[in-house]
Amino acid sequence: MRGGKMYYESDADLNFLQGKTIAVLGYGSQGHAHALNLKDSGLNVIVAQRPGGDNYKKAVEDGWKPLNVVEAVKQADWVHVLLPDEVQRKVWEEDIKPNIKKEAVLSFSHGFNIRFKQIVPTQDLDVLMIAPKGPGHLVRRQYEEGKGVPCLIAVEQDASGKAKDLALAYAKGIGGTRAGVLETTFAEETETDLFGEQVVLCGGLVELINSGFETLVAAGYQPEIAYFECLHEVKLIVDLIFEGGFSKMNYSVSDTAEYGEYVSGKRIINEAVKEEMKKVLADIQSGKFADNWLEENRMGRPSFSKLRKEVSERNIEKVGVRLRSQMAWIKK
Ligand code: NAD
Ligand code: MG
Repeated sequence: MRGGKMYYESDADLNFLQGKTIAVLGYGSQGHAHALNLKDSGLNVIVAQRPGGDNYKKAVEDGWKPLNVVEAVKQADWVHVLLPDEVQRKVWEEDIKPNIKKEAVLSFSHGFNIRFKQIVPTQDLDVLMIAPKGPGHLVRRQYEEGKGVPCLIAVEQDASGKAKDLALAYAKGIGGTRAGVLETTFAEETETDLFGEQVVLCGGLVELINSGFETLVAAGYQPEIAYFECLHEVKLIVDLIFEGGFSKMNYSVSDTAEYGEYVSGKRIINEAVKEEMKKVLADIQSGKFADNWLEENRMGRPSFSKLRKEVSERNIEKVGVRLRSQMAWIKK
């Protein structure tokens, strides 16, 4: 296993950003956090957010004068794109590419559009990634508390010869070097991110929970019991794994649970499942998944909408709404 080098506060110098106008495009989950953190780090920031909608209102309330993308890009020495991934290509073609300054910095928080060639920047630009490994609201809150969310950085094009220092400086500006910054590539970040969410975090976990729930209910057990066993307790177990790995979790559960883990876990996540994981990874690496998702968006998301409806109408979701409404301590 090849270990990566971590970068911290003293490895990064905000002076690389002094005198530059940084445009943050999009004032959503990541956008508001980056813009506010960079400003509080003493940097010169402008915000682009289309009018109408809550995010525009929030930007104004936070003291910005939101511009449209074209105006912001024209003024900027550095353009950080925090628009939804599926609209970035269009905005790049129509608004960014024709207006971005020569030798500016173009950066992202996810590698999708560069990795899958939806955006092909001109050679004069530095092309960077600064990707916090946490949701935007945490990026802001942790920064305000003097902490930070770990970040990945990557350099796709180094036109200036200073690209890595620039990426580290930006990471420092949003609080990332307080927690640690790891260097990656656009390909590694994109492929591992898509794999993680499909196989483990979203796809794998949701179907594991639901399959366990349905198996118990079909066998005649009460849905409420099945919900607590297969969904509610996941959080308690994951908290322990997060704090101290599998060993802390196994220390905390009974020896019976631990024995069951050893003998039954591999019957569920067996070699066939692992083979399928490899196929999912292959579809990500080949661009097949990306093509399908982009095509789905072009067609107005017909199967996405259908699948979203199906999953939201599952029995476990109905049971969950009822049970959670009685647990007032679960935060909305
Ligand atoms: P978001 O949907 O929360 O925010 C996007 C913003 O862009 C919204 O305010 C929207 O109104 C605005 N917008 C959409 N189309 C626009 C247009 N044509 N012109 C101007 N504004 C427009 O998005 P997000 O979740 O913050 O994601 C932004 C980027 O950050 C993506 O590349 C994503 O992969 C990456 N990222 C997100 C997270 C996260 O926590 N959500 C974590 C890591 C990386
Ligand atoms: Mg992810």
